Amino acid sequence: MTILTTDGAKQWMFSIKERMEKNIDQLTALDQAIGDGDHGLNMVRGFTEVSGKINNVTYGSVSDVLKSAAMTLSAKVGGASGPLYGTAFLAMSVVFQDKEVDQQVLKQGIVEAAESIKKRGNVELGDKTMYDVWFQVGEVLDSEIEDWNDVAEVCQAMIEDTRELEASKGRASYLGNQSKGHVDPGSMSSFYIFEALVEVLKG
Ligand code: ADP
Ligand code: MG
Ligand code: MG
Repeated sequence: MTILTTDGAKQWMFSIKERMEKNIDQLTALDQAIGDGDHGLNMVRGFTEVSGKINNVTYGSVSDVLKSAAMTLSAKVGGASGPLYGTAFLAMSVVFQDKEVDQQVLKQGIVEAAESIKKRGNVELGDKTMYDVWFQVGEVLDSEIEDWNDVAEVCQAMIEDTRELEASKGRASYLGNQSKGHVDPGSMSSFYIFEALVEVLKG
């Protein structure tokens, strides 16, 4: 059964933009604590560009929407997160090509997206990056999902888990031990990406 339509994919991007706007100050504060403070702005700028790009275009598939989003994020976001999210959405777009997006395909897309972040960012689980969240969401989609809110909950728990980790990749790693005690900004924005997805999937 199709769970994500072409229109749903567009809604997903619009909903991400709204969430980034609503939470810009929080994302900024998180990145001020362990990075350079631009994550909120990076996300708002990136997803505003994406929304503007896809708004007036008629796409033939979910894959095409995500490909367009991926290119835009990679091109328009200066920080590390832009190309990484770009890579992730591009990997999903490849998995979704010529397919109806049912739960199995969606899961496969998210697993491949996580894998692409891992490769591109050269990260492992527990490095305190967005990969921690993407990996975990891929895992949870393995099981039969009765309630999409469960996915949001797992995701939220994972963000909390990043708090006590020491960062070993990205800017936060410059702080070493001092990065402990703060939630990773990219994990937080990834949560909003999945929260937005859950909202669209619930219809
Ligand atoms: P920048 O660090 O360049 O200012 P952002 O502030 O937009 O970029 O994004 C920071 C987030 O990007 C981090 O919180 C982390 O989740 C993620 N990140 C940074 N470097 C990597 C990496 N090598 N692999 C995976 N994720 C990374
Ligand atoms: Mg930053
Ligand atoms: Mg920066």
